[in-house]
Amino acid sequence: KSKFPLKEMLNRELTQLSETSRSGNQVSEFIASTILQKQHDVEILSAACKEEKKRRPMSQISGVRKLSPSPSLPPTCTPRFGVNTQHESLLAEELEDINRWGIDIFKIAEFSGNRPLTVIMYTIFQERDLLKTFKIPSDTFLTFLMTLEDHYHVDMAYHNNTHAADVVQSTHVLLSTPALEDVFTDLEIMAALFASAIHDVDHPGLSNQFLINTNSELALMYNDASVLENHHLAVGFKLLQEENCDIFCNLSKKQRQSLRQMTIDMVLATDMSKHMNFLADLKTLVETKKVTSLGVLLLDNYSDRIQVLQNMVHCADLSNPTKPLELYRQWTDRIMVELFRQGDRERDKGIDISPMCDKHTASVEKSQVGFIDYIVHPLWETWADLVHPDAQDILDTLEDNREWYQSMIPRSPSPTPKEQDSRATLGIAGSAGEKFQFELTLEEEDGELEAEEEHTDKDRSSTMMDPRHAQTSPRGVAPVLDSRERELDQEATSVSILQLET
Ligand code: AMP
Ligand code: MG
Ligand code: ZN
Repeated sequence: KSKFPLKEMLNRELTQLSETSRSGNQVSEFIASTILQKQHDVEILSAACKEEKKRRPMSQISGVRKLSPSPSLPPTCTPRFGVNTQHESLLAEELEDINRWGIDIFKIAEFSGNRPLTVIMYTIFQERDLLKTFKIPSDTFLTFLMTLEDHYHVDMAYHNNTHAADVVQSTHVLLSTPALEDVFTDLEIMAALFASAIHDVDHPGLSNQFLINTNSELALMYNDASVLENHHLAVGFKLLQEENCDIFCNLSKKQRQSLRQMTIDMVLATDMSKHMNFLADLKTLVETKKVTSLGVLLLDNYSDRIQVLQNMVHCADLSNPTKPLELYRQWTDRIMVELFRQGDRERDKGIDISPMCDKHTASVEKSQVGFIDYIVHPLWETWADLVHPDAQDILDTLEDNREWYQSMIPRSPSPTPKEQDSRATLGIAGSAGEKFQFELTLEEEDGELEAEEEHTDKDRSSTMMDPRHAQTSPRGVAPVLDSRERELDQEATSVSILQLET
């Protein structure tokens, strides 16, 4: 039997999805290009993109900048949250939620004077007493954090310091899940938080595939393998060598080695092309899961421990759709801005525009539904199995949000009164939180406008990732919103939304 049954299953699913309609094809390509290690078009590597840059030795890690004046050196008297701000009390109020899933990280960014990463890390390390445990001098800690934060690009819509802070805080909450109580050592906890903090540093807002296809310096440096993730790690570790930045100076050699290994393992696991492998292994771990007499997970070897940590950070990285809707929508708006910018560059260069990156054809809502159905939900469902029942609320929010995006898929003409009638009869209109009684396909919705579409419920009602979960997958028809309500909601969405394919 194949080593990757999940991959094959997903491949079959995506093939079917791509055959249903043009938008189905678009979503399918997006999913495939995100998590499957697809061979890219070799022809793109043709002579077309030969803008030679001036030769530079490769002995230096690009992206490490000397920032002058030296990065907002922490004042001698450390402020309460590590940074100077005029909104300290507002910040304090937000930070009271530090242990809660769905903290408003955007407000924290605002109230901290755009220092969310520094403030979040400082607060969490204090909360967990890690500064004392590992004898980290607070001025060193703050100098490093600000330097790190400054190496996230300020003009990046998604992959910026706020995303890093969000992933750190999400990891922090996941580390405290009851099923993992006292399972991880302080060193492992610190490694997970550190990995989250550096996991996207110096992100250029371009995908690995783009960097490879355009023969970028970074792809050359890392031989096309997990290009960005290797770079984030290199920059993250390199910054520890800046003046007064070595937060691990009082760790033993063994602790440093161990922390470095774990960090590398976790950040490399954020490469989306590794997603299916990690998910498959996580499922195996869940199936063989052992629990101690205290009712927490028994993880008695490095392989199992790091695997849980890798999946934890990966979950935190893919947690936008599990957050309160108003936060999730902001993240979606932001990632679309970044994807469209990459698409613009691809258009300018005359190379193929990556899936979901073409602002003229992308379907934002559909891509979110596809992203949840094929990537986020299968992952979180498995995580929820691992820590059952700790993640039930997270899973519920995810399903509600999926339903919301599904309901926002533009659709014309509006359902006829008769249709609405029958939906009401079947109990699928309204009631947002409700579990669906049966499945309809994504594309059913456009069946009305795309006459060439021919498919049946059966097309997609078969298994998706795991037959055991087919029934609980949040697929189905979303509540039919009042059309005025929908228009208002759409107006509120700041990223210009898509046009329906013609
Ligand atoms: P990272 O780039 O390290 O943040 O890895 C997460 C990846 O997951 C992103 O590059 C996207 O491919 C994908 N992703 C995360 N959030 C979203 C979202 N809301 N919509 C679409 N894709 C997402
Ligand atoms: Mg990344
Ligand atoms: Zn990320």
